[in-house]
Amino acid sequence: MRLAIVQVGEPVLRQAGKTLTPAEIVSPEVQQLIELMRETMRQAPGVGLAAPQIGLSLQLAVIEDTAENAATERTPVPFHVIANPRLEVGPEIVEFYEGCLSVEGYQAIVPRARSVRVHALDHNGESIVIDASGWYARILQHEIDHLGGTLYIDRMRTRTLATARNFSRYWAGVPIEEVLATLEKKVEKSAT
Ligand code: ZN
Repeated sequence: MRLAIVQVGEPVLRQAGKTLTPAEIVSPEVQQLIELMRETMRQAPGVGLAAPQIGLSLQLAVIEDTAENAATERTPVPFHVIANPRLEVGPEIVEFYEGCLSVEGYQAIVPRARSVRVHALDHNGESIVIDASGWYARILQHEIDHLGGTLYIDRMRTRTLATARNFSRYWAGVPIEEVLATLEKKVEKSAT
């Protein structure tokens, strides 16, 4: 079964989710919700899904990535759950295109920390610490943003926003620095 993914403009995407107790996390209701979120994420398909995206204002997200890409420091991440996460970001910033299942059909360049540490509860309601870098760190930042009511469009380089079709047509494969140089260059005023 696949849950409906709400789209930008839905108020729940702009609210901070409610935290869950360990007892709530291991309850049959939340365990079933996690299963449904896993199926919904896989069918979308996506690499992460946060509870607000299915209309529930909870501090709960699922993550799974099977892809690999050296350019974006992307490596497979097994399925896992984070609840009530607290994020610490490293100093180095990296820029890549990013999209969101709740902002269907668009992509934009988003600066994010290259490495993060996340304190959270797992699917058993137990405390975990995740040290991540590269694409996984980006996924974590994106999902944790959702749990606080923030979307990537709040952080994106606005001039790089593109439809999926135009991204493929004009920007796919173009180095990020070149995209930024092209789209964000200062327009020099002609002397008159
Ligand atoms: Zn998203």
